[in-house]
Amino acid sequence: MDKGVVIVTGGSRGIGAATAMLAASRGYALVVNYASNAAAAEAVCAAIHAEGGTAVAVRGDVSDEADIDHIFAAADRVGRLAGLVNNAGAVDVAARVEDFDLARLSRMFAVNTFGSILCAGRAVKRMSTRHGGAGGSIVNVTSAAAKLGAPGVYVDYGAAKGAVDSLTVGLALEVAGEGIRVNGVRPGIIDTEIHAGTGEPDRAARMAASLPMSRLGRAQEVAQAIVWLLSDEASYTTGSVINVTGGRGVAP
Ligand code: NAP
Repeated sequence: MDKGVVIVTGGSRGIGAATAMLAASRGYALVVNYASNAAAAEAVCAAIHAEGGTAVAVRGDVSDEADIDHIFAAADRVGRLAGLVNNAGAVDVAARVEDFDLARLSRMFAVNTFGSILCAGRAVKRMSTRHGGAGGSIVNVTSAAAKLGAPGVYVDYGAAKGAVDSLTVGLALEVAGEGIRVNGVRPGIIDTEIHAGTGEPDRAARMAASLPMSRLGRAQEVAQAIVWLLSDEASYTTGSVINVTGGRGVAP
């Protein structure tokens, strides 16, 4: 059965790579977007091909509108868009608010927030019944930092992801009658390479013992929630953001 195409932004590594491989195993054709690591994206596609799946690696910076158009044009060549996973994201070196400047904030919000909103808009144009589409599902990867605020580390990242939580609710209601579900997944501390961007590559490993489950999360554990939200199994779920944090940050 043709399940259509799913775009995973930042599908070359970490949570995005795990999501792309799991979604491919469920029968979706994949667009594996990456920013610069072509070898990692090609390795994800090769793993999908080896299992008989369909995948193409597409370079594109989600903070650049022309690149976003290029990613969606590549998806159009593969087939009917059925899903978008707004996963591409980045942090910055740990700093306090009084040390932020506009250049840092512009990067932070361009990748984590504006990219998600712009990609969602392109997906709606293709999937909404209002535009002649057949419906679909959008999953935004936000962060526990949206709720916890990330004081002393990257409050700007928390704010950028908080905006994605708001996008999830607002867009879900905007397109609920147009065949599109919009949900989010809020990972906790997951064992990926993103933490190197804080300037302290061992930060996540050091935190593991203090987490409720005394361990980091795995990319695969986040991917399972994302792919469930993509699927028809989640057919009455929209506007939800699922914590995949091993209990971190769930108490009010
Ligand atoms: P990761 O291992 O660092 O991978 C990041 C992915 O995003 C890579 O595929 C990278 O491409 C891509 N990317 C980065 N900037 C991009 C851009 N401007 N345009 C397109 N692609 C871009 O990160 P991760 O830990 O899997 O994180 C995935 C998502 O989960 C992010 O949104 C992150 O904020 C969120 N998250 C992660 C954690 C965690 O603890 N890991 C916790 C909460 C939320 P290249 O390979 O080309 O560099």
